[in-house]
Amino acid sequence: MSRSRVLSAVPAKNPGPPGSCIFCDIIARRAKGYILYEDEEAVAFLDLFPFTRGHLLVVPRHHVDRLTDFAEREYSAYLRAIANVCRRVDRLSKHYNVAANQGSLAGQIVFHLHFHVIPRYGEDNPFRTTPRERLREEDALALVEVLSRP
Ligand code: AMP
Ligand code: ZN
Repeated sequence: MSRSRVLSAVPAKNPGPPGSCIFCDIIARRAKGYILYEDEEAVAFLDLFPFTRGHLLVVPRHHVDRLTDFAEREYSAYLRAIANVCRRVDRLSKHYNVAANQGSLAGQIVFHLHFHVIPRYGEDNPFRTTPRERLREEDALALVEVLSRP
């Protein structure tokens, strides 16, 4: 049995009821997500409306709205997971933005803490506010192939 199969049995921590948080549902495999990485504390999956190719989100299993809701001991494992994911993103580009929107006025839409990792390829500012194209299945599967390798 693969490691990711074993870990997928580790659910979100203190999730709301099914349907109340899309990221908890992805972690619990109740909703579709292109999962790339997981460990005991965090999960990473592709953003459904990517700014650039390979745009992904790293989320803690523990459902909290924002970074300051974490207990002190949770920070290091989460940061380690983000760094582990960034090492994989290096396969696409050594250049990427790592960012978290905190609060609706800062652009937070999903209130389950997440860091975006957004690979950059030399394009102009990709952070447009106009609607983004939805991730295509074939592109997603190709990215899963590249980024889910340990
Ligand atoms: P934020 O604005 O920081 O809250 O970012 C939320 C991100 O989640 C956006 O970039 C969305 O495109 C992304 N997103 C929303 N729903 C899903 C989903 N079901 N699967 C993957 N990404 C999603
Ligand atoms: Zn959640």
